[in-house]
Amino acid sequence: MSDTNVVLVLMAHPDDAEILCGGTLVRLAVLGWQIHIATAANGDCGSVELGRDEIAKVRHLEAMEAAAKVGGIYHCLGLSDVQVAYSPENICKTIDLFRQVNPTLVITHPRYDYMLDHEQTHLLARAASFAFAIPNASLLPLAQSATVPYLYYADPLEGHDPYTGQMVEPTTLIDISDVMPAKTEMLACHASQREWLRKHHGMDEYILAMQRHCAMRGQVCNSDFAEAFVQHHGHAYPQDDLLGRLLGTSNLTTRETVND
Ligand SMILES: [Zn+2]
Repeated sequence: MSDTNVVLVLMAHPDDAEILCGGTLVRLAVLGWQIHIATAANGDCGSVELGRDEIAKVRHLEAMEAAAKVGGIYHCLGLSDVQVAYSPENICKTIDLFRQVNPTLVITHPRYDYMLDHEQTHLLARAASFAFAIPNASLLPLAQSATVPYLYYADPLEGHDPYTGQMVEPTTLIDISDVMPAKTEMLACHASQREWLRKHHGMDEYILAMQRHCAMRGQVCNSDFAEAFVQHHGHAYPQDDLLGRLLGTSNLTTRETVND
């Protein structure tokens, strides 16, 4: 496999990647891409019964299992839930992770989201994606192919900007209808979270909420289920829509074409 086909998803918590872009990862895996799922935090506030260390261990195993469903590797920066911070120390940790993975494509949270762990993780991913290929940015070996990767932002929670209440307008929609069972299986690996919500709601809200969101995004491109992304177009980042090109969907053009 070419070492240029590597996707790194850096999200705040275990399960964010599966909820926000699991279907896209399944589709990239089918194309032969190497999948890396990383989280800034270890999920140690994700239980009302277990202590921090105990639930963090459970969630690490769940995240590994979910990543393995697409032949992927799970990494954790080891920060605590609700304490993710854009700090020099954490920027270095993130750059080191990027050095090891050497991604071509990075997916992270959007700039504005419902929770600050997500927003701080966004900053870490932006900093590391820009900097990891700079020789002096890390002491770890630098792959010859290292360069500024494609960068995409997944949806914020429920798809809306928390400051304006407006739905985020995607640059790229990926049809995941055919891989929804595989995405659901990935998310179901996070059994500790699923069971907690099932007890709390009396129904399988963990899975259902994910499916509702993908169905809502699917309406925009006339598919049953879709995942939405906004591509980062800052200086030095690749500008062409790699995800749309690889996975065959772009938003408004597709909708107009299908409706014709
Ligand atoms: Zn999260």
